[in-house]
Amino acid sequence: AMYAAKSDRQAVTIYEPSMGAEALRELETRVALINALENDEFELHFQPIFALADKRPRGCEALVRWHRPGHGLVMPGDFLPIAAKAGLMPAIDRMVLRRAVAVQARWRWAGLVHADWTLSINQTASSLAAQDWADVLDAELVRVGWKTTNDVAPPFGLQIELTEDQLAIDVPGAMEALQRLRKMGIALAIDDFGTGYSSLTYLRRMPVTTLKIDASFVRGIEADGDARQIVEAIIGLAKKFGFVALAEGIESEAALQTLIDLGCEHGQGYLFERPLPQAVFEARFFGTAP
Ligand code: C2E
Ligand code: MG
Ligand code: MG
Ligand code: MG
Repeated sequence: AMYAAKSDRQAVTIYEPSMGAEALRELETRVALINALENDEFELHFQPIFALADKRPRGCEALVRWHRPGHGLVMPGDFLPIAAKAGLMPAIDRMVLRRAVAVQARWRWAGLVHADWTLSINQTASSLAAQDWADVLDAELVRVGWKTTNDVAPPFGLQIELTEDQLAIDVPGAMEALQRLRKMGIALAIDDFGTGYSSLTYLRRMPVTTLKIDASFVRGIEADGDARQIVEAIIGLAKKFGFVALAEGIESEAALQTLIDLGCEHGQGYLFERPLPQAVFEARFFGTAP
């Protein structure tokens, strides 16, 4: 099963009178998350990624949101940590993968994006390392008609984002999974770069294509000498290793100009656009009717 079976749900609903209010809320959220996976309560929003030199969109990042009944739109920071504790990340990651493949296929088939357009999705290392991740992707590509079984398809323009802190922990099977993805033409971005402790050796050995500079260094970079030096070093590292440097969380013209001066290639942030629902994103960037 992709997610916890009904019997597991009963197992987690056991109420202990000694439980604090917060523990109880978390338990309710776990049960609600299992239902949400069954009932398709999730939605992907899309934030465009720009080439800073010409300010043209080159792709976008899919970010998950939860329409939780009675709670409105719930952001990932408010449910992913609980989902992780409940062992639900593989199910959420696969749901996101399946939806993202369907969206990218629609955009490619309709000619709304060119072959160099990249759709980026966030995944967790342990989900990727599961034996069948690549098989799931392969099956989805067949389902949307991008390829036939056992056939080598043209690059699909999909990128996986893994946070740097996950690379510091050696997830068994993750390296093998990433090598397999590379053979399938999947790009790999290291998310929140600069906040983790990935070794340069590991970085060199992995099929990395992009370093996403964490927003904490980008915010106020024009006035913060330390942040500027860190970003400069990351861009230098990216150039040396042949990776694309991408700045996250660009919120001001001043930050943008500093990044351009430092030679940062790509960026995303509220200055350009917030993450948007699919129909709004398509209307704005592809000129389709909303
Ligand atoms: P992330 O992958 O680093 O995504 C960037 C986050 O920063 C997003 O928050 C985005 O909405 C926000 N953001 C973008 N531009 C700006 C800006 O200019 N200023 C500020 N202040 N924020 C900006 P969001 O959507 O709340 O996602 C938070 C985190 O949750 C993501 O960080 C990612 O680690 C995780 N996440 C989101 N969707 C998924 C998913 O589908 N699967 C997994 N495994 N994780 C996800
Ligand atoms: Mg990300
Ligand atoms: Mg990030
Ligand atoms: Mg982040």
